[in-house]
Amino acid sequence: MTIRYRIVPKHPEAHLFEVSCTVAAPDPQGQRFALPAWIPGSYMIREFAKHVVSIRAESGGRRVAIGKLDKHTWQAAPAKGALTVTMEVYAWDLSVRGAHLDTTHGFFNGPCVFLRVLGREDERCEVEILPPAGRGYREWKVATALAPAGAKLYGFGKYAADDYDELIDHPVEMGTFALTTFRAAGVPHDIAITGRHDADLERLGRDLRVLCETEMRFWHGPRVGKAGGPRPPMKRYVFFVMAVGDGYGGLEHRASTALLCARDDLPRAGDTGVNESYRRFLGLVSHEYFHTWNVKRLKPAVFAPYDLEHENYTTLLWAFEGITSYYDDLLLRRSGLIDDESYLELLGRAITSHLRTPGRKRQTVAEASWDAWIKYYRQDENSPNALVSYYLEGSLVALALDLLIRTRTHGRRSLDDVMRALWKKFGTTGIGVPETALEEIAQAVTGLRLKSFFDSALRSTEELPLKRLLAAVGIDMQVRAAESSSDAGGKVASGDGARKPARVVLGARMSGENEAKLTNVFDGGPAQIAGLAAGDAIVAVDGLRVNGKTLDARLARRTPGATVKVHAFRRDELMTFDMKLAAAPADTCALAVKGRAGGMSRLRARWLKGR
Ligand code: ZN
Repeated sequence: MTIRYRIVPKHPEAHLFEVSCTVAAPDPQGQRFALPAWIPGSYMIREFAKHVVSIRAESGGRRVAIGKLDKHTWQAAPAKGALTVTMEVYAWDLSVRGAHLDTTHGFFNGPCVFLRVLGREDERCEVEILPPAGRGYREWKVATALAPAGAKLYGFGKYAADDYDELIDHPVEMGTFALTTFRAAGVPHDIAITGRHDADLERLGRDLRVLCETEMRFWHGPRVGKAGGPRPPMKRYVFFVMAVGDGYGGLEHRASTALLCARDDLPRAGDTGVNESYRRFLGLVSHEYFHTWNVKRLKPAVFAPYDLEHENYTTLLWAFEGITSYYDDLLLRRSGLIDDESYLELLGRAITSHLRTPGRKRQTVAEASWDAWIKYYRQDENSPNALVSYYLEGSLVALALDLLIRTRTHGRRSLDDVMRALWKKFGTTGIGVPETALEEIAQAVTGLRLKSFFDSALRSTEELPLKRLLAAVGIDMQVRAAESSSDAGGKVASGDGARKPARVVLGARMSGENEAKLTNVFDGGPAQIAGLAAGDAIVAVDGLRVNGKTLDARLARRTPGATVKVHAFRRDELMTFDMKLAAAPADTCALAVKGRAGGMSRLRARWLKGR
């Protein structure tokens, strides 16, 4: 039987969707319904039920009692005929994980709005998507990768999904979004942009097509989409882009992705080349698109199926997010959208971020994966000292593993082969990847003994031998002190060779311009040793007033080892500290092509160009 949903932007001005769910033959004991506690892809308990502002149930034109069993589960009184539950859902979260509705557009993720009919999760779902009432909304259209069940392309009307899992994995955008389309390996792709922007749509379509086809070939080989060749796993794909003043984020789905970006990251008409901000956007697109395979279809066994009520624990987020983070930039390079130098700059910056995270000596990537729910997604002022990002650390593990395989097999095997073997074994089965399978398959595919690599890289806090592995493909890794507080690394130092006095640092991160407020205080750094803490606002150094803009310049006049008197407010108490300044540590990485010898450059070309 089909579960029937209906969603209406009932009061856009009040940010309220009205959503109903009709069950033809409800549980005679009293049908139960629930909203998910989290949304797959974002590993944090979010309690979507908190946005339900009213709920009622009806059967045969009569009201039926409905009450709550726990924070997100309801039970209706026994009803004989079809039972309809109708909710008002507040939607004012402009993020890729939420639901958002105003008089300019509507966007929703299924977990925010669609009730799960307990015990009936495998049944077909049909959803009728309606426009808001009123003349002002006549131009609105719909973007979604849901299969139409009567609705016209981009139209309001009925859509369908095979089961609840599929229903909630297809976000929907409605409004007057800008639209461009392209085909990649024969599959239609839409880019729907909401928010004010001046993007060159034609160029976006052209660049994304190149990128999508590169990723399809990565997984399915050069004949993907050709007559008699393999088919990609999706029939259609939608990029939902929300362009805002400042923002960054994405969430992957099986046939679409929701992206949040700064409008200025999108290329303008007439722009050529890929500047830093457009590169950031392309990297985001590349990342989320790679997830179409790695995490949406290849997924940890504990996600098959997801437990939507509780945390789902796995040690493998380093693989599903980290390997994806490794390939997102590498596939930008392989697609030709960026060159070797640009890619090495990105890689150098990633290594810089790693070197600047003291938590790497405390938390392993396997632990970071497991504790994502309470640590990575719920960071506080001590997080840099206590934890690592399984995105960043996972991407460096992937880099090390790839280079190790390439050099030890003399270029005959790579991480690409491991991923394709994983895909062959688990990509289309729906059973999920057991916790140890990736390590086993990596050994089987390469013929290498990799246990000690995995033990060290995943289950210890030992440093990865990146310098040695990069050298084997002719890339020189240099680590130096930062030249300024905004020096993110990636490039070789711009110094002209003249010996400059060592920069001093206080071992803390700051925010704000008017106030030098410490956001994070690093373990063992001058600020911590002096007794300063996160939240303290530094107001003077050696009796001279400073703020967020002038503090660096004030400290730059001193040399490492000098002691300065610091005045700072902790809450409303003025306190004085004696702080001994330290030299800027060597924590800034730059990479450059060095080895031109035949073997090395062949290995490097195969790695960077994917040939
Ligand atoms: Zn991701």
